[in-house]
Amino acid sequence: MINSFKDLLTKRITADELKTIEGIYSDSLYEKDNSYIFLANFNNEKSLIVLGQGKVFDKFEGEQFLEGEGKICSLNHYNAKIMRQIFPFTSPKSYNDFPISIGLGDRLGIASPGHLRLTKKYDFFPVIAQQSIRELELTGRTYSDVLDSSTWAVFQEGYENGYGFDGDHLKKDEEIQMALENGATMITLDLSDYIQNEVYNMEENEIDRKYDEIPKDVRESLENKYLNKDHLIDEELSIQFTEEDLKKNVLIYLDGINYGIHVYNRFISESKCNIDYEISIDETLHTTTIQAHYFVASQLISNGAKIRSLAPRFCGEFQKGIDYIGNIEEFKKEFEMHFKISKYYKYKLSIHSGSDKFSIFPTVGEYTKGFYHLKTAGTNWLVAIQLIADKDPELFREIYDFAFKNLDEAKKHYHVNVNKDNNISIEYMDNKDLVNILKDDNMRQVLHITYGLILQAKDKEGKSIFKDKIYESLNKYEEEYYEALYEHIGRHLELLGVKKNN
Ligand code: ZN
Repeated sequence: MINSFKDLLTKRITADELKTIEGIYSDSLYEKDNSYIFLANFNNEKSLIVLGQGKVFDKFEGEQFLEGEGKICSLNHYNAKIMRQIFPFTSPKSYNDFPISIGLGDRLGIASPGHLRLTKKYDFFPVIAQQSIRELELTGRTYSDVLDSSTWAVFQEGYENGYGFDGDHLKKDEEIQMALENGATMITLDLSDYIQNEVYNMEENEIDRKYDEIPKDVRESLENKYLNKDHLIDEELSIQFTEEDLKKNVLIYLDGINYGIHVYNRFISESKCNIDYEISIDETLHTTTIQAHYFVASQLISNGAKIRSLAPRFCGEFQKGIDYIGNIEEFKKEFEMHFKISKYYKYKLSIHSGSDKFSIFPTVGEYTKGFYHLKTAGTNWLVAIQLIADKDPELFREIYDFAFKNLDEAKKHYHVNVNKDNNISIEYMDNKDLVNILKDDNMRQVLHITYGLILQAKDKEGKSIFKDKIYESLNKYEEEYYEALYEHIGRHLELLGVKKNN
C-alpha cells in the first residue's frame, strides 16, 4: 500500500498535483527550503513525507525513497520536536491575547483536527492540548504525547493562529514542573486538596477556636482589609463581610491561597514563557459564594500572584457529558456576580465541565460579552463511541457490556449520578437503533466515565481488548469523526454566541 503510494510521487511533482492524491492532507502541504512537507494517511497509517532535498530534509528522521529525494517519517516525538522548530505555529502559546478561549481536551489524541476546523468559522482560541493528571493516568498517556498529538493535528489542518497547552487540574509542585518541562503554556492549579471543607460543619465556637490559632498579625491584617467595609465591584455590586463570614472564608481558603501564591512565585513569575495561570476551586463539595470568590481573588492578587483565569464552583451541577442540572434563574444571578468580580480584577471567569451545558451557554455568552475561558473535555470520546455505534455495532456492543460490568470501578474516579438499574438492554436491539443509546443521559455518563477502563482493558495475554479496535475504527472513519466533532462542538459555539469570522 505504502509502496504504491510512493510510486505516485515523482521528483518533479508539483504542489497542485500532490493535492489531488488521495491520502494526502492537502491543508498540511507546505513548501520550505526546497522541500515539500506534508502529512499523508495510507492504509490507516499517518506519516510525514518530505520531498526534495533541502535544508529541512536532513533534519527529520525517516526512511528514504525516490533515490534519496523523498523521506517517509513516522509521527514520533523526535520528528514532532523538529516540526515545532521549523514551523513555530505548531508550538503552543498563551491565550492571553484572545478574549474567548476554549479548552478542548482530546483524550484519544485524534480529535483535534475536527476541533480545529471550527476556528475557520468561529473566532476563538483553542486549547487543544488539555489533560489532567487523572486523564493521563486513565488513558495511559504522557504530556509529551499530548503535545505531539497537538503538533501533528495543527500541521495536518494547516492551522496557524495558535493553540494552548493546559496542564489541567494540577495539585502538586512536581506535576506543575512536569507540565512546564513538557511545554505547557497554561497551568490550572487545583486547590481542592487545600480547601478545608470540614469548616462548613463546624459550630461557631469551634470556628472561633480554629481562627484564633492563626497568628495574630495575619488575623489583624485580614480584619483590617475586609471588615467594616463596602468592597465596591461596580455600581450595583458591593461585597461585605461579617466577622463570621471572614473567619469562615479564612479557614476554608487561606491554605489554598498561600499555595497559589507559592506556585506563582516558584513557577509562573520565574518562567521565561508567557504562562496563563488559572486557579481552580471548582472541584469541591460546596458552591463558591460571591464572598469566597472575591476573598480568594483579592488575596491572591494583592499578594502579587497574577492570575489570568479563575474557576469557581457555580451553583447547580456540572456533571460530565450532560446538560446543566439546577435552577437556571439562580445560575444567571450568581454567574453575573462572579463575572463582575473577574472583570473587576481583569481575569477570565473559567467554566469547567462545560461539555454539553447547552442550557447555560446563552447566559455565559451574553453576560461576559465574549470574555471567558470554557473547558470541555471528554465529549469527543462520546462522539467517538457514537460513531462506533453507527459504524461498528459489534464493537459497540462489546464496549457497552464492558462499561456496565465495570461501572463501580469507574465511579471511584468520577462523581456522577449514574444508576446501574437504568441499564437499557441492547441484546435484542437492532443495530440501527444503537446510536440512540447516547441520547440517554444515564447511558452517556456510563460510557463517559468508563473510558479509562475501556482503553486499558487487556486480555489474558496482555493485549488490549478495545483500544486498538477503537483507534482502527476511528481512523477508518476519520472524516466522519471530524464532521461529528465539528457539529457537536459547533452546537456549543452557536449557543455561546461566539462571533463568526467575517
Ligand atoms: Zn474543574
